[in-house]
Amino acid sequence: MAKQYKYQLEESQIPTQWYNIAADLQNPPAPPLHPGTGQPVGPDDLSPLFPMGVILQEVSQERYIDIPAPIREAYQNYRATPLYRAHRLEAELGTPAHIYYKYEGVSPVGSHKVNTAIAQAYYNAEEGVKRITTETGAGQWGTALGYACQLFGIELKVYMVRVSFEQKPYRKAMMNVYGADVVASPTDSTEAGRKILAEMPDTTGSLGIAISEAVEDAATRDDTKYSLGSVLNHVLLHQTVIGEEARLQMEMAGETPDVVIGCVGGGSNYAGLAFPFMRERLAGTSSMRFVAAEPASCPTLTKGSYAYDFGDTVGLTPLMKMDTLGHDFVPPAIHAGGLRYHGMAPLISQLHEEGHIDAVAHGQVGVFEGAVQFSRAEGILPAPESAHAVRSAIDEALKAKEAGEERVILFNLSGHGFLDLGSYERYFAGELEDYEYPADRIEEALKGLPVVATA
Ligand SMILES: *Cc1c(COP(=O)(O)O)cnc(C)c1O
Repeated sequence: MAKQYKYQLEESQIPTQWYNIAADLQNPPAPPLHPGTGQPVGPDDLSPLFPMGVILQEVSQERYIDIPAPIREAYQNYRATPLYRAHRLEAELGTPAHIYYKYEGVSPVGSHKVNTAIAQAYYNAEEGVKRITTETGAGQWGTALGYACQLFGIELKVYMVRVSFEQKPYRKAMMNVYGADVVASPTDSTEAGRKILAEMPDTTGSLGIAISEAVEDAATRDDTKYSLGSVLNHVLLHQTVIGEEARLQMEMAGETPDVVIGCVGGGSNYAGLAFPFMRERLAGTSSMRFVAAEPASCPTLTKGSYAYDFGDTVGLTPLMKMDTLGHDFVPPAIHAGGLRYHGMAPLISQLHEEGHIDAVAHGQVGVFEGAVQFSRAEGILPAPESAHAVRSAIDEALKAKEAGEERVILFNLSGHGFLDLGSYERYFAGELEDYEYPADRIEEALKGLPVVATA
């Protein structure tokens, strides 16, 4: 029989509902706390920042949530995304493992992020919001939200981490194409930015700092709301279209994954693929393994603490119980591969704490080596972030080879790396070094965790 490489769904098979894993957790999630009072936050506390449609999803316990028609229509532009069997990579590795990957790089902006950007722009537009602020690191999120805001006629201001603003001019240009106003963070136009600049005039910026600025901008203007591209429950919810499609596609392939892999920055693309497969594990009827791959230079799950922390650097956001490296964390500028956030989605953190998700940290040299090997076999150029998942998938396939086992591996290829070729060039020039974030600096940063009187 001829080998099948690609599994495609019909338009009618695009999911009509998102899957909310909050309904199936074994333990109740720790509530987010107000940064001032330390009390659990309610919907009203969040309303200066988010539209009510999004807030209700953030706290929802419904297992399935209908996807509104205008969002499904926008999804039809690029969904369902393809699932591939990596026959050529398997042959190259000489592994008995079957490797499958779901490819989100076919979206107009080149990553999964647009799945939630469209949903968030829609709920804002529904409630009459005219302007949105956000932060972006490598620029993928700002690009996705720029496109989504265009679709729904909303103005967008992006606070872009300074080091990326300087190193990734094409991402900035792409946001400008979609009509977004992009500034290098920290700026001197917010109180948060001025405070950071007074303390650290030469800072390269961080996601935590950029979030402080975007949140302050939104909270101080009536016509503006704020939007976050990862971490929060509603963002992970929107991404579950990935896993719901992948389930159908794995059925077409006649296989069930033994292990489901993804890279984690804030945790959204991985949750999107993994959560729909985790239902059975949480119900106790499956022992499928789940592996989250992160960079050794920002080792949130493998080296962080599971504790309440702020989502931003200045301390404007609610406190969330999550794996964190401390909100003061500034990633090393040497790091090429994205995934730089100090915290992790509370849902991913809890499932990691409960033993449902294993975490691995990769050095960046091995990550790019795996990405190049993957590209030469499969043709697709992974985003450096996605390359962490590629590395983990290759490692799993090599372990299967050693054990002589036919393992089924599924991973998420969250985006393409066409705008990250500078990092590939640095890899080929031998300029990338492995950098493990020093244990004593993590310990130092964790001393700055807010003290919370837990009940
Ligand atoms: C932003 C991004 C990530 C990391 O964010 P998550 O919320 O962890 O998914 C991973 N891959 C790509 C391509 C990205 O743009």
